Amino acid sequence: MTDDSPLLGAVEGGGTKFVCAVGTGPDNILETTRIDTTTPAETLEAVGRFFVAAKTRHGPVEAIGVGCFGPVDLDPKSGTYGYITTTPKPGWQNTDIVGTLRQRFRVPIGFDTDVNAAVLGEYLWGAGEKMDPLVYITIGTGVGGGVLVNGHLLHGLLHPEIGHIHVPPPVDSQAFDKAGQCPYHKYCVEGYVSGPSIAKRWGAKADRLPPDSPAWVEVADVLGYALVNLTLTLSPRRIILGGGVMEQEHLIGLIRGRFRAILNGYLSSSAITKDLESYIVKPGLGPRSGLLGALALGRAQANLSRKKQLEG
Ligand code: ADP
Ligand code: ZN
Repeated sequence: MTDDSPLLGAVEGGGTKFVCAVGTGPDNILETTRIDTTTPAETLEAVGRFFVAAKTRHGPVEAIGVGCFGPVDLDPKSGTYGYITTTPKPGWQNTDIVGTLRQRFRVPIGFDTDVNAAVLGEYLWGAGEKMDPLVYITIGTGVGGGVLVNGHLLHGLLHPEIGHIHVPPPVDSQAFDKAGQCPYHKYCVEGYVSGPSIAKRWGAKADRLPPDSPAWVEVADVLGYALVNLTLTLSPRRIILGGGVMEQEHLIGLIRGRFRAILNGYLSSSAITKDLESYIVKPGLGPRSGLLGALALGRAQANLSRKKQLEG
């Protein structure tokens, strides 16, 4: 990054915490803060206060990028563009994220899902360089995934909702509560392997289950099916797995094993047959993929408005 790179703001908006930063790029983050996610009004007010205070120290930001939990409305033509829409998180339905920040700071706001931000961060600066298509999945409080294709973050009818991909229910489960825990679906990935779903199904918090618990074999099985489905539909060059549950060091090896077994030799790419360790990987940016991706969303928005100004 050169010294004339614009100063940008970044917000990673999660159901537990909002992390904010100002900086010019991954190697020049000047300030960050962590705000507990409470009510929308209180949380966004605290986000605003952070950027106001940061401005006094570092000057104004040219744009702010936001990667946000969702579902969110990403259709620029929609009346609710930039809103969190139908989230099950109490009090957060129909929250205008982009409008609130734009009104307060009068700068361009880049906006996408938290996981699309993460996949962008990893593509630019992490484990996904030159890997297009690229998929990033977080397995944490929820399960979600972002997708980058042909250099663009994948939007569409809405945006990918990889956490709710359906998988075969685990066979002969030894779980304490065998049911999938998603309030919407019986058989989706999130209902089996999000941190809270693991806790409910196995009767112990995910970080307390021992490495030899049968829970991990089952978690790997469910994720194996999900990743096979993604490889078959999107043909990604790499899949990145992040989030708190992936802190289990042995889990990624189990997932690769199930992925290979379920695929059963069907795809002959050497990335899969010979180099699966480089195909299913952990994030290169560690826990910073989403925040740095949000910064990149801000940068893209700043570039877009510069271009518009030159044209107009
Ligand atoms: P969030 O999804 O809220 O952004 P995380 O990605 O950190 O946050 O995910 C939090 C979830 O990850 C919790 O449900 C927790 O049980 C689980 N988790 C955190 N650390 C571990 C660990 N070492 N092993 C297994 N699960 C973990
Ligand atoms: Zn679901």
